[in-house]
Amino acid sequence: MLKGSLGAAALLGLQACASTAKVAQAGTTPPPPAPGKRVSLLPIRVTPDQLIDVKCCIRPLRAAGPNLGTEMVGSTLVIHNYGHGGSGWSLSWGSADIAVGKALTVLPREIAVVGCGIIGLTTAIVALQAGLKVTIYARDPIQRTRSFRASGSFTPDSRVALSEQAGPAFGDLWERMARFSWKAFRTYIGVAGNPVEFSDSYQLSDTPITRRPPAAPDPAITESFATKGLPQQNSEFGHYSDRIRDIVPQAVPLAPEDNPFSAPYATRASQMYFNFASYGHLLMSEFFARGGQFVMRDFHNPAELATLREKVVIHCTGYAARDLWQDKTVIPVRGQTGWLVPQPEAHYGVRYKNVSLLSKSDGVVVMNNNPDLGEMLGVGNSMELPTKADIEEGLKIIAPVFAPAAARGA
Ligand SMILES: Cc1cc2nc3c(=O)[nH]c(=O)nc-3n(C[C@H](O)[C@H](O)[C@H](O)COP(=O)(O)OP(=O)(O)OC[C@H]3O[C@@H](n4cnc5c(N)ncnc54)[C@H](O)[C@@H]3O)c2cc1C
Repeated sequence: MLKGSLGAAALLGLQACASTAKVAQAGTTPPPPAPGKRVSLLPIRVTPDQLIDVKCCIRPLRAAGPNLGTEMVGSTLVIHNYGHGGSGWSLSWGSADIAVGKALTVLPREIAVVGCGIIGLTTAIVALQAGLKVTIYARDPIQRTRSFRASGSFTPDSRVALSEQAGPAFGDLWERMARFSWKAFRTYIGVAGNPVEFSDSYQLSDTPITRRPPAAPDPAITESFATKGLPQQNSEFGHYSDRIRDIVPQAVPLAPEDNPFSAPYATRASQMYFNFASYGHLLMSEFFARGGQFVMRDFHNPAELATLREKVVIHCTGYAARDLWQDKTVIPVRGQTGWLVPQPEAHYGVRYKNVSLLSKSDGVVVMNNNPDLGEMLGVGNSMELPTKADIEEGLKIIAPVFAPAAARGA
């Protein structure tokens, strides 16, 4: 479905780029590329031999949004920072800023952070930046956490709360976290190893693409979170991303000459994402370089936190808070990702039908979602074993996007 045959498309694209670069260096305005040569992309290889990993993870959804409350356990002040649904990477810095702000109100010299997923690690770094002595206690460093089994894009309002239960005030809190995080991520752009990057993300369709309004309630579904303790339909999920449209690049429709694919309809958006290997490594290095200490430890109940030397503890155990804190408001939302061999030469993302691909330096991440289920996919499911067949099915669905047009008879 890429326009032209593969070799020819790639070659034409490179020639067009090289000549424009030469003219631009000479200080003149580059001429527009010849028709049909405006944009060409190298195809992403999606054959089954490229699939090197399938990971499964649980999103920690709370109907009311993340728990940022405080409580005393014995003489220890515990500040919670867990339950970020499908948005933990995206909201991490802003959420850390709020949690550390609460810790600072009691003027501690040292604090403990329990948990070293993306929430615990960013919380620890923000606390170090504030001049505190910080020890992370966790049973796993970030590379072995659920966080490392996510997909890694800036998706700050993905299954983060239910609109009714979170209430209108949550929108303001969400916006504060999202804006703070967006700024923090930008400080990692351009850093060696590309921990945080932007790339083009194309949405392709066989029919015109319109901006989807939030799902309307289905009158046939009479149960809801209020009656069942679990959301029953997509319309229950909160959506807040319009609040930050002024800073986050929005999708633009592509004119036919700018559409590198032969799918008739396409949009392109600049998408910010995280390369887990380099970003995780960089954050751990930053934590240690600022004097942080890491202690591998497993806690079995809240009272054990009160035995720590530090009398201020920020609790960041994510989905595990359901067991450790007996917080049954944490709802599991299962999801999985497939990983293809890294293909840095094809640096972009594509969404077609229910499948998304994003080519990152740590691999090409593939997700096969179900358009009928939408955000309800995986809700209430805590099964953490991957099912490779779903990813293989997704690869088959998206493969025609990269087939030479001639092979499709286009
Ligand atoms: C398929 C999928 C894709 C996703 N994609 C994205 C995305 O693109 N963008 C985005 O923003 N978010 C995404 N998410 C959501 C994101 O992964 C989560 O919100 C995030 O990982 C939560 O991080 P956390 O640090 O709270 O929890 P975790 O990563 O689970 O970390 C918890 C930490 O606590 C420690 N711990 C737990 N229990 C104990 C205990 N009893 N004693 C001691 N230590 C303990 C663990 O060892 C670990 O260090 C995705 C989720 C899924 C499932």
